Amino acid sequence: MASFEEKDLLATADTTPSAIETAADEPNQDRFAALGLAPELLAAVCDLGFTEPTAVQQRAIPLALEPHAEGFNDLMVSSQTGSGKTAAFLLPVLHTLIGMQAEEAAREKAAWDAKVAAALAAGEPAPKKPRRRSPLDARKFKPAVPGALVLCPTRELAQQVAADAIDLVKHCRGVRIATIVGGMPYQLQIAKLQNANLVVATPGRLLDLAGSGQIKLDQVRFLVMDEADRMLDLGFADALAEVHQLTSQRQQTMMFSATFAPRIQQLALRVMHDGGSKVQKVQVDTPQQSHANIRQELYWADSPEHKRRLLDYWLRDPGIDQAIVFACTQIECEQLAEELQQTGFAAVSLHGALSQAVRNRRLGALRDGRVQILVATDVAARGIDVPTITHVINFGLPMKAEDYTHRIGRTGRAGRDGLAITLAEFRDRRRLADIEAYTQQHFRPLTIGGLEPTKVFPPIQEQRPPARKGGGGRPGARSGAPRRGFGESRGPKQIGGGFKEKSPFDARPSGAGSYKKESSFKPAGRPAARAGAPRAKPYAPGKAGR
Ligand code: AMP
Repeated sequence: MASFEEKDLLATADTTPSAIETAADEPNQDRFAALGLAPELLAAVCDLGFTEPTAVQQRAIPLALEPHAEGFNDLMVSSQTGSGKTAAFLLPVLHTLIGMQAEEAAREKAAWDAKVAAALAAGEPAPKKPRRRSPLDARKFKPAVPGALVLCPTRELAQQVAADAIDLVKHCRGVRIATIVGGMPYQLQIAKLQNANLVVATPGRLLDLAGSGQIKLDQVRFLVMDEADRMLDLGFADALAEVHQLTSQRQQTMMFSATFAPRIQQLALRVMHDGGSKVQKVQVDTPQQSHANIRQELYWADSPEHKRRLLDYWLRDPGIDQAIVFACTQIECEQLAEELQQTGFAAVSLHGALSQAVRNRRLGALRDGRVQILVATDVAARGIDVPTITHVINFGLPMKAEDYTHRIGRTGRAGRDGLAITLAEFRDRRRLADIEAYTQQHFRPLTIGGLEPTKVFPPIQEQRPPARKGGGGRPGARSGAPRRGFGESRGPKQIGGGFKEKSPFDARPSGAGSYKKESSFKPAGRPAARAGAPRAKPYAPGKAGR
């Protein structure tokens, strides 16, 4: 799918009947066509090269489209990142919006035709159609009244989802997509919001604009929460409660997430119709079943310097196209990116302290190949969809075990193979154990000739320190118990005193803080093996994205 950098955040599209007919007629589109989607959407899906629905699309779309007396089914869909879940919620929402749009257009046309006929019958000249308002004209301002709202936890994810939606409405006349994310200039965002049918937003800026009357949410019929686990788990409780109130007339609520822990399910059910009694649950795959196309490898390092040399080795892997290197902290991220630039790699950093404009430019540069290596914090763990990312390298381990799954999902996109390398020191053993418990997979540590650790590391589960007692534990899986069905993952995470009933979305205080910077890294020497010149020229961050 195209980047949000390459397109406007708001899209209207021309209908090209020939393209639509082609898509509908394509034999390999039969399984998409069987879902009953509008021909405009089938054409877009065909353009994107989707030959058949993915498992989550196959299961979720029919359920989402199924009407009943009070609207549509509420859905709780558990599906991994990279499984095609964005289209699984966008396609049914857009399908219904297109239908509503067509009905509205027919009503308007009938009213206009009647007005013209009345004028002519009275012997008056036919009325002239009013001139179209420019959405950029502040004097003619009208608040946006979208019919669908998609909420995302991060700006990057919101922009990716909006870009996907724009791709899907390419053949739909007058269906407008707008994005509301923090860190972007207000005026342009507000101007582009006008007449939007589907809004993709992060909660903070959305409520900001709703509070100042720029957007009205009382016509929202479809509310989707992407990465719902994160939205319900982290510090969005109050914002979500407010959105829940503002969209109380909605007909459908859909939640998509990699997993639904029991406590997250409870929170989710509270905002579904009838307390979730009729919610349809779909579980496509678990963190254990997924990522079969991603090779996951662990390398032990004796020290930060050793880890840095291992990183250098992997960044010179002949099989590399593009890579994301995850660091723990913003400081580590900046330092590492700088070091890599100095070593000659086309590398840039991406983290939450950068302005949104810089983040966008850098992602755009990654997407169009001007950057080879993105050094990022977990801000990039979700939502980045760049098929040419061949390597994900965990230079610093994630705070939460589920973020490991999201991180490695940045490679192996769209049916390709990927490689996920984790570089760990002894002090990382608890986090590794959490990841093993969460993914139900065991790392088998590997070594590289000339870069072997000198220390001997016992198996990870044996190294696992006893869980801390009391309320101050870290988030992440602790139990090695096998997962069973939908949402039956780890037990409830009791952090900082647990869950209080304040609002439908109320959750415990976020367990996410930031790591203290644990070490600094010296520029690495040449790797012992597979040495080769960096593939791309040094990248000048300030010039990216132009
Ligand atoms: P997502 O899980 O929504 O992030 O999607 C992961 C990737 O799969 C994206 O690059 C999508 O463009 C791609 N994708 C989504 N649906 C399909 C499909 N039916 N066939 C092939 N690729 C798809």
